[in-house]
Amino acid sequence: MNLRLNAEPRTRFVQDTPSRRRRSDARTAPALEVPLFDLARGLAPLRADAVAAFERLWAAGQFTLGPDLEDFERRFAEFCGADHCVGVSDGTVAVQLGLLALGVVPGAEVITVPNTFVATVEAIDAAGAKPALVDVDPVSRCMDAGRLSAAVGPETGAVVAVHLFGRLAPVAEISAICARTGVPLLEDAAQAHGAQRGGRRAGTWGDAAAFSFYPTKNLGAAGDAGAIIFRDADAASAVRSLRHHGSLPDQPNRHVRRGTTARLDNLQAALLTLRLARLDDENEQRRRAAAVYRQLLAELPLTLPPADGPDEAQVYHLFVVEVADRDGVLASLRRAGIGAGIHYPTPIHLQPAWRHLGYARGDFPVAEALADRCLSLPCFPGITEEEQLRVANALARALADPR
Ligand SMILES: *Cc1c(COP(=O)(O)O)cnc(C)c1O
Repeated sequence: MNLRLNAEPRTRFVQDTPSRRRRSDARTAPALEVPLFDLARGLAPLRADAVAAFERLWAAGQFTLGPDLEDFERRFAEFCGADHCVGVSDGTVAVQLGLLALGVVPGAEVITVPNTFVATVEAIDAAGAKPALVDVDPVSRCMDAGRLSAAVGPETGAVVAVHLFGRLAPVAEISAICARTGVPLLEDAAQAHGAQRGGRRAGTWGDAAAFSFYPTKNLGAAGDAGAIIFRDADAASAVRSLRHHGSLPDQPNRHVRRGTTARLDNLQAALLTLRLARLDDENEQRRRAAAVYRQLLAELPLTLPPADGPDEAQVYHLFVVEVADRDGVLASLRRAGIGAGIHYPTPIHLQPAWRHLGYARGDFPVAEALADRCLSLPCFPGITEEEQLRVANALARALADPR
C-alpha cells in the first residue's frame, strides 16, 4: 500500500461509502468504523488454548495459588529480566503493595506526576502515603527529572515513575536521583510491558515495578490482574504474604503482618502465559503501526509522540498526538467513525477527588497543556494499513476544518 495521505482527502476513501450515507440519513450515532482498540482480534487465535486451560483448572479445582500462577510469575520475571515476580489482583494493588514492600510508611510523601491514570495516586493513597506531584517534560510527557531532583526531600518515602503510553520515563536520570538520595524507586509500568532502552526492559531500573494486566493493556488478562517485579527477594516475599492475609507459605494460619486478599487467580495466570508468548510480536505490530502513522501524519499540523532514542523500543500502549482545538478535532473524528480518545482529559490535581492535595490550576502547566491537546489514535495489534489510512484522512480533514 502506498503510505501517503490522499492528496484530495475530501473526495476519497471514507467519504462516500454506502454505509456512511445510510448512517447519516438515519441520524443515529455512527457505529465506530475504526475502533480505538479491538480486543477481539488479539484474543481470537487463543480461544482453543484458553478453553483448554479453563477445563484443566476446572477439573483440578485449583483456582488460587497453584502451579499456573508460579509458572506465569517465573516467565514474566524472565521476560522483564527481573529476579522476582509476584502476581496480584490488579495494577492498582500492584503499586500499593509494591510501595509497602519498599518500606513506605504512613504519612510519607510519594512523588509522581499529574498526567497519569488516576490509579497511580489511588495506590499511593491506599498505601497510607501522601501523593506529591511534579510536572512532566513537554517532549517525553514523562516525569521531569530536574523537577524531581528539586522536590525530593526528607519527607520523601518513594518515587513512582510512570512510563506513559508505552515509553520509558527518563529512568537513568530518575534512578540516579533516587540512588543519590536513598529514596526507593517504583516504576509504574502498567502501560509499558516490554518497552526497552539500552537493552533493559521496563521494570528493571527501579527497586520494584508494578504492572497491570487489565484487558486492554499490552499484556491483558480476561479480567483484572497485575504483578510486581522486584530486585530484592525479601520485598517479593513480603508481597507474597501481603496478598494472602499476611500469612507465611509454610504456616497458613499464622498472620505475621496486616495483609489483605489480592492474589492473581490461576486461570488469569494461565491465560496470561498464553498471551505472554505473543507479546513481543504484538508489541512489534504496535511499533509497525506507529511507524505507518509517522509517515502518514508527517505533514499535518500536529505533534507526534516522541520518537525512539538510540537503542530504544517503545511499545505504544497508546499512540498520542497533540493538536490545537482538540475537542473539535475529536468530535469531527467521531463523526467520521474513528474511535479516537483522550488520555487523559483532566490531570490528577484538577480532579474533584484529589482537590485536598492542595494544588491549583497553573501548578503544572506542562501537564495541563498536554491534557488540552492530547488525542489518542487507534493503534493496536492487527490494525490494518487501510484502517490507518482512514484515520489519517479523517484527521487531515478534521484539522483542516474542525467541528
Ligand atoms: C491501568 C493503569 C494502572 C492500574 O491498573 P489496574 O489493573 O486497572 O488497577 C495503574 N497505572 C497506570 C499508569 C495505568 O495505566
